Amino acid sequence: MAELYYEQDADLSIIQGKKVAIVGYGSQGHAHAQNLRDSGVEVHVALRDGSKSIAKAEEDGFTVQNVADATAWADVIMILAPDQHQRGIYNDEIKPNLTEGKALAFAHGFNIRFGYIQAPEGVDVILIAPKAPGHTVRREYVAGRGIPDIIAVEVDATGGAWDLAKSYAKGIGGTRAGVIKTTFTEETETDLFGEQAVLCGGTSHLVQYGFEVLTEAGYQPEIAYFEVLHELKLIVDLMWEGGIAKQRWSISDTAEYGDYVSGPRVITPEVKESMKAVLADIQSGAFATRFIADQDNGAVEFKELRAKEESHPIETTGKELRALFSWSGASADKDYVDGSA
Ligand code: NDP
Ligand code: MG
Ligand code: MG
Repeated sequence: MAELYYEQDADLSIIQGKKVAIVGYGSQGHAHAQNLRDSGVEVHVALRDGSKSIAKAEEDGFTVQNVADATAWADVIMILAPDQHQRGIYNDEIKPNLTEGKALAFAHGFNIRFGYIQAPEGVDVILIAPKAPGHTVRREYVAGRGIPDIIAVEVDATGGAWDLAKSYAKGIGGTRAGVIKTTFTEETETDLFGEQAVLCGGTSHLVQYGFEVLTEAGYQPEIAYFEVLHELKLIVDLMWEGGIAKQRWSISDTAEYGDYVSGPRVITPEVKESMKAVLADIQSGAFATRFIADQDNGAVEFKELRAKEESHPIETTGKELRALFSWSGASADKDYVDGSA
C-alpha cells in the first residue's frame, strides 16, 4: 500500500517559515500562490519582464519580481511555467541565483526526469503535484477542501526535503484530501501515460470516432454530441465516486450488457499493445525528445495538430449546443476562449 500523509503528518510552520517564489501565474501558479498565502506563507510571484501575467498577479495583491530577483530572494522556488520553457528559465534566471540550502520545487517531474534541469549541489529538489487542474486546486481550497497531491524528493541536500514537501502540500490544501508518496520517475511517467493513453489522448479520440460513426451514418450531430460527449461526464462522475463497478450498477441492464459484449470489440487487445508502445516511448525519453525538439523549433507540429483538432466537426456542434442550454451557456467556454486563468 502506498504511503499516505494527512493533516497531522505535515508541519505547516516549516513552509510558513520560508520565503516562496512561484514562477508563473497560470493554471497552477495562481492556485499555489493564493493557497499558500491563505495558509500564512510569504509568497512572491516571479514573471519575465513584460509578462502578460504581471497585471493579474498584482491585481490579486502579490509582489511581482523578475525570476532572477525572486530566486535570489526566496528559500523555495516553485517552477510553474509550462514544462517546455522551464529549462530556459532555469538556465538564464534561476541557476545563477540558486545557492546552497534553497529548494527547487516542481508540480510535474518532466524536466528532472528527462535531465533538462540539473540542480546544483546543496539544493533540495522536491515535487508537489496536485492531481487536478489549477483552477480546481484553488476552488477546492476556498471551499475548505483539498485536492490530493503526490509528492517526491529527488535530492535531499538539507535533510529536510521530505518535511518541506509535506509542509508545502499542506499549505496548498493537499493534506486535507490526502498526499501520496512517489518518485519523480513514477510521477512523470505515469502522468504522461495517463494523459496520453487514457485521460486526454484516449478519451478525445474515442469521442471523435464515436461522433464520426454516428454522423456518417446519418444521425443528427446534436444527438450524436449528447450520446458520445455530453453524457461522458455523467458516466465519469459515477466512476470517480465508486469505480467502474458503481457506474455499471447505475446504468441500465441493457447498457451494462452492451458494455460487456461491445466494449472489448472497440477497445481490443491491440489497443493495450499500443498503450504499451506509448509507455515505452515515454520511458525511453522518445516522447520528451520529440516534444522539446518541436517546441524549440517554434512548436510547428504542435500548432498544426492543434489547428487540425480544433476544426473537428464535433467542436462546432458542441459550441452551438452549449450556448443553448441552461446547464452550460457561453460562460462555460469563456475561460479557454479568452485564455484567462
Ligand atoms: P501555464 O501554461 O498555465 O503557465 C503559464 C504561466 O507561466 C503564465 O503566467 C506565463 O506567463 C508563465 N510563463 C510562460 N513562459 C514563461 C517564462 N519564459 N518565464 C516566466 N514565466 C513564464 O502552466 P500550467 O499551470 O499548466 O503548468 C505549470 C506546471 O504545472 C507544469 O509543470 C505542468 O506540468 C504542471 N501541472 C499542471 C497542471 C494543470 O492543471 N495545468 C496539473 C498538474 C501539474 P506569461 O503571461 O508571461 O506567458
Ligand atoms: Mg496528470
Ligand atoms: Mg500532465
